[in-house]
Amino acid sequence: MQDEKQKVVLIGTGFVGMSFAYALLNQNVCNELALIDVNKDKARGEAMDLNHGLAFSGANMRIYEADYEACSDADIVVICAGVSQKPGESRPALLQRNTTVFKSIVEPVVASGFSGIFLVATNPVDVMTHVVKTLSGFDSHRVIGTGTTLDTARLRFLLGEYFSIDPKNVHAYVIGEHGESEFVPWSQAMIGTKPVGKIVTDYGDRFKKSDMDAIGIKVKNAAQEIIAAKQSTYYGIGMSLVRITKAIFGNENSILTTSSYLDGDYGQNGVYAGVPCIVGRNGVVGHLSLELTDYEMQQLQSSCGILRQYYKETNL
Ligand code: NAD
Repeated sequence: MQDEKQKVVLIGTGFVGMSFAYALLNQNVCNELALIDVNKDKARGEAMDLNHGLAFSGANMRIYEADYEACSDADIVVICAGVSQKPGESRPALLQRNTTVFKSIVEPVVASGFSGIFLVATNPVDVMTHVVKTLSGFDSHRVIGTGTTLDTARLRFLLGEYFSIDPKNVHAYVIGEHGESEFVPWSQAMIGTKPVGKIVTDYGDRFKKSDMDAIGIKVKNAAQEIIAAKQSTYYGIGMSLVRITKAIFGNENSILTTSSYLDGDYGQNGVYAGVPCIVGRNGVVGHLSLELTDYEMQQLQSSCGILRQYYKETNL
């Protein structure tokens, strides 16, 4: 157990929230975990269920169902709460409903005196993270979204499989919106320190550029493919949330494609998007500025334009 108190409050104990909580417990990432949900019975039941695993775990965590006052001394508040799209509901209508849900969450969190870091997973994640920044008035480095961390993990897995290389040695990112306009800046993709473009040129008999394009499309369609098979996705995003939480508690200054506020970076202003960020104890402490090609810059600009439009639809 860590000596220092490391407290996480999780808001939204659905599939995503509880996958995060379960991975948090199994990886012994914090020593206090408070669960909040509009459905208090669900949060209470989930806390009981996790507590019953403590005897078999290496963790020594305090886990309990809580009210918003529990946020007052939390280090990180993770938001996985939200409503899903009703049949026939437009995107602006869904965005406005989720903004109303977020008002009912962010206001009491801030009123509790919370002074830590917000971490958001609710979709559309870049927009909902922007909503949290606006509603909380917090400095943007303390308001982070999961962004394209999961998409990047999917890309690294698929490239690792294709090249028969450990995904940990695959250095490549998905950037932009977590959604339809996301893309892979292939000019920045490396296996070890060798650019993927060079590998494809040098070993053209085995590896093909067209396969890279197919992998990019597979990453973008992964969520839909999983949803078609099992209705929703949650383990991967739960582990992405744990990865970000660890980077914060460990003051790792890890490079992760979280959703962060762009304020001049890549020529973008006033928009949250997934780009390689340096994540440490104070949240997003910097950006790794990639040298994108002109075409990749255009793709990022177009993705940010879409996100700006979505944010307008929240009417904030
Ligand atoms: P879910 O329906 O299982 O859980 C949502 C939870 O939010 C429920 O327990 C519900 O009671 C709670 N909730 C609703 N309104 C609330 C409120 N006002 N206050 C507190 N709690 C409230 O959904 P899920 O499958 O866990 O998905 C949660 C979110 O995560 C969705 O928006 C989903 O799209 C998103 N998601 C994001 C990623 C990503 O990469 N960022 C990946 C997968 C899912």
